[in-house]
Amino acid sequence: MSLKHLFAALAVCVLAATVVTAAEPPLKALIIDGQNNHNWKESTPILKRLLEETRLFKVDVATSPPKGKDVSTYKPDFAAYNVVVGNYNGAEWAEETKKAFVDFLAGGGGYVCYHASCNPFRKWKEYNEIIAVGGWGGRNETDGPFLHWKDGKIIHDTSPGSGGGHGPQHPFQIVVREPDHPITKGLPPAFMHSADELYHRLRGPAKNVTVLATAFSAKEKRGTGNHEPMLMAIAYGKGRCFHIAHGHAGKQLKSVAFIVPFQRGTEWAASGKVTQKVPADFPTADKVSRRE
Ligand code: ZN
Repeated sequence: MSLKHLFAALAVCVLAATVVTAAEPPLKALIIDGQNNHNWKESTPILKRLLEETRLFKVDVATSPPKGKDVSTYKPDFAAYNVVVGNYNGAEWAEETKKAFVDFLAGGGGYVCYHASCNPFRKWKEYNEIIAVGGWGGRNETDGPFLHWKDGKIIHDTSPGSGGGHGPQHPFQIVVREPDHPITKGLPPAFMHSADELYHRLRGPAKNVTVLATAFSAKEKRGTGNHEPMLMAIAYGKGRCFHIAHGHAGKQLKSVAFIVPFQRGTEWAASGKVTQKVPADFPTADKVSRRE
């Protein structure tokens, strides 16, 4: 081979290596699903696509055995990922799987508690600490306080009552309460979300939680009259949990008020930072934005 050919061959190698490097997203995400009172078969592919669109994530899915079957065989390799995205609301896992999940978080991993993922595992202490607050499953005042925004701050309300609920779907405004957090930095102070369930009365250990954004749960929409947490960031050991309460189904996942916080929050849970820019189609305080 002549020197000229050698250089040409080397150039091709360098180019090929560059292409491979550029094509490989830096973060690995695992969506967990398989049991849910929500249509996870519809939402998981959408969540996967939303993460892949950022070009930051390589996304795998770990589907559990179906409802009513033995889930003891469900052993996702959490440790192989930067972040786990919860789309699971079902039977309690085996002790070994629960331990692997807690170890993953405590050791620096990320978790995204998406919508109904705050429903399961009432009796699993660490899971509830990771997600801060949850609903349904018999949760009540023994599980911890409600969180509301009141008089310029978040209050921990220990009054009795069941955890979890929502009125009929309706559009609502999400108000940023922590504008300097990486997830919310650069977002407008308030933005509209299209018709969705507005979760209220979530309660739990509520330790090490920062409420990033709230939504007002109006009494005329069978709500609480309180500003309810919608976006939360929780510290757990060396790890991070991003809790996003909205996004009921495929229809709601087209609202940019879901898409962008979900993409940014997942990056933060995975890495502790957010590199994404706020897109031009982000909703305003009074106008919904959707990607149909
Ligand atoms: Zn729902």
